Amino acid sequence: MSYLQIFEDSFTGYWHYLVGEILHPTWHNYFYMLIVLSILVWLLEIAWPWRQDQALFRKDFWLDAFYMFFNFFLFSLVVYNALSNLGVKAFNDMLARMGITNLVALHIETLPVWVQFIIMLVVADFVQWWVHVLLHRVPWLWKFHKVHHSVEQMGFAAHLRYHWMETIVYKTSLYLPLTMIGFGIDDFFILHAFTVLIGHLNHANVPFSYGPLRYVFNNPVMHIWHHAKVFPNSHPYGVNFGITLSIWDYIFKTAYIPSSGRDISLGFDQVENYPGSFWKQLVIPFTRKS
Ligand SMILES: [Zn+2]
Ligand SMILES: [Zn+2]
Repeated sequence: MSYLQIFEDSFTGYWHYLVGEILHPTWHNYFYMLIVLSILVWLLEIAWPWRQDQALFRKDFWLDAFYMFFNFFLFSLVVYNALSNLGVKAFNDMLARMGITNLVALHIETLPVWVQFIIMLVVADFVQWWVHVLLHRVPWLWKFHKVHHSVEQMGFAAHLRYHWMETIVYKTSLYLPLTMIGFGIDDFFILHAFTVLIGHLNHANVPFSYGPLRYVFNNPVMHIWHHAKVFPNSHPYGVNFGITLSIWDYIFKTAYIPSSGRDISLGFDQVENYPGSFWKQLVIPFTRKS
């Protein structure tokens, strides 16, 4: 297939997929999965609020709700799907020229599903932990990641407030390791739903830390320190980089929960002057002043 054909098919294919998802829901439906999990975690915020005085429709609630749908659907619809299909085609063409036709190093599809689940969770989360550290340490990446850190009041939807460049950076870094173990990025619906749930909870206004499981799973009590306005002198680039799992922060000594983070200031230096609209946040990482 030609590159142009792939580009065109990506748009029409994704459009049909999205309409089908909305009109003909199945048990593997991403659209309703996002809605159901969002409502579920929001209900938990209502039932067990950590900051009692935080409004139900907190600061930037609607901005973040828009980000949720943009990053989950619209960005894929508009550009990501086409770009990634082209990228995959170019990558495979390049490999074929080098005589490599099969990248799969490990055939895990023969293993029990729960083992596949754990392997994919651990591999993907480990790669993402390192990418997240880089988002903090590399100045031009930090400009994009600042969008996520501009959250000043935490609630479940803050999870998906991030610049679309992060989608490209994360998915590109995941492509090779996941292909090598025989998985596509979005193949595993249950795993995807699980990571959305944990991510929503990490940002929710709930006081959960999951008891002893806090050493395995990231949680709201831990992740709020990742959003602290001021990082400790010992970790100037940040703390608690975990996405779904917290184990990497304990292994690499970046775990930091000095006290209850319930009322700490969030954001970064001068966050009050950071643009508050979606379109301005889209543009600002590309400008010099960000
Ligand atoms: Zn971060
Ligand atoms: Zn976060």
